[in-house]
Amino acid sequence: MQNQSVDVLIIGAGPSGAVSAAYLHKQGFQVKVVEKSKFPRFVIGESLLPRCMDHFEEVGLLNALKAKNFEVKAGARFMRGEKICNFDFSKKFTEGWDWTWQVPRADFDKTLTDTLESWGVDIAFEQEVVGVDFKGSDSITTLKDKDGSLSAIEAKFIIDSSGHGRVLPRLLDLDKPSDIGRHSSIFTHVKDSKRPEGREGTIITFDIVSLDTWLWVIPFSNGYTSIGFVGPSDYIDSFSGSNTEKLQEMMKLSDYYFDRFDGLAYEFEPVVIKNIAKSVKKLYGEGFALTGNSAEFLDPVFSSGVTFATESSLVASKLIARQLSGEKVDWETEYSDYMKQGVEVFATYVKEWYTGNLQTIFFDSNDNPVIKAQICAVLAGYVWDRENPFVKNHHRLVKTVARIAEMEKEADSSIES
Ligand code: FAD
Repeated sequence: MQNQSVDVLIIGAGPSGAVSAAYLHKQGFQVKVVEKSKFPRFVIGESLLPRCMDHFEEVGLLNALKAKNFEVKAGARFMRGEKICNFDFSKKFTEGWDWTWQVPRADFDKTLTDTLESWGVDIAFEQEVVGVDFKGSDSITTLKDKDGSLSAIEAKFIIDSSGHGRVLPRLLDLDKPSDIGRHSSIFTHVKDSKRPEGREGTIITFDIVSLDTWLWVIPFSNGYTSIGFVGPSDYIDSFSGSNTEKLQEMMKLSDYYFDRFDGLAYEFEPVVIKNIAKSVKKLYGEGFALTGNSAEFLDPVFSSGVTFATESSLVASKLIARQLSGEKVDWETEYSDYMKQGVEVFATYVKEWYTGNLQTIFFDSNDNPVIKAQICAVLAGYVWDRENPFVKNHHRLVKTVARIAEMEKEADSSIES
């Protein structure tokens, strides 16, 4: 086996790995990224949040992304039957980016890795991590290439950004059941040949077909659109036939979108991902940090995945840079507590979505613009802004406001009758 030695080994070349690689490379560390697949490769996670623009900008990756003219996402539309709730990121409470993108991830992630390679970052594609041995914080990682040949890399620190691969959680037994409900998803892409003109054709929409089942429609600037359902695992399983037949049947649940996508060929056999939510016992250990989806994933309903992936990788990379420069780092407070603070805010919103409380607020006809701006900032990914009451008091505020909305509705209907 051939041995190579680096400062930081990054497992996975998705957005999380790319942001870490960019930051550490610019700080002068010797970095190597190892990636199981060959890019471009498909991965789900196509609707971004404004907060992640801060991360791409800080590490110098934003201009390369801007040059690709991805579809701009300036807000999001939630609909339930006749009721519609539009969020406009320019009207959010917290200062920050008021737009982002809807992206086919194959192109998006390839743009990131092409840019990194143009800077001289070492990325080894088609190299799968199959084992890791730690000696204190130093490690030796075993890689398998597509022909089955093995090689090894020594590193002073490992960032596991392997996404759904969850390399270190599996190897080190760090997986923990998530307390988010058991949801599954089925999705594909279509050539959106019946796309309406103007904003209607390009707006990202979440069409709520029942309390816990919804359809996403994410149009891309290349003329294709991503469509997918999320719902209770048992419910998604209850549809029979091939994945194409299942999704075709489910599309009938959407009165609004059925015609637009009816009869269009699916670009690939719809993918089913079961029991989406993931969690871990700890986010770091001696010589390693888990970032992105490898660490935690909640639910796609608020598109938080990529933003958490880049937030966590940037924070972890800064700590690694300090540690490798001889500083003492308190990983518990500076990484784990920090990340958990943001995750807990989003976890409340996800849970309250499925209890119906958040839907009550979204579709309340007595829309309060102050409350809407504060919730909008959360949906834009600014979940560390403690000035925002809907961040600071997330545990009780969503419930309380939903209760008030219910009471107002009851009062209105008793006046009418
Ligand atoms: P990834 O982008 O998954 O990249 C990880 C990389 O690691 C992959 O390229 C993989 O090949 C590589 N890898 C895996 N194992 C190994 C190994 N053993 N050795 C080497 N390399 C390896 N997020 C959003 O922000 N918006 C959304 O709209 C959204 N929708 C979603 C819908 C569904 C149904 C699901 C399940 C998730 C969704 N997500 C969404 C989450 C999103 O997929 C992830 O949060 C995001 O891709 C995480 O990025 P990452 O860099 O951590 O991992």
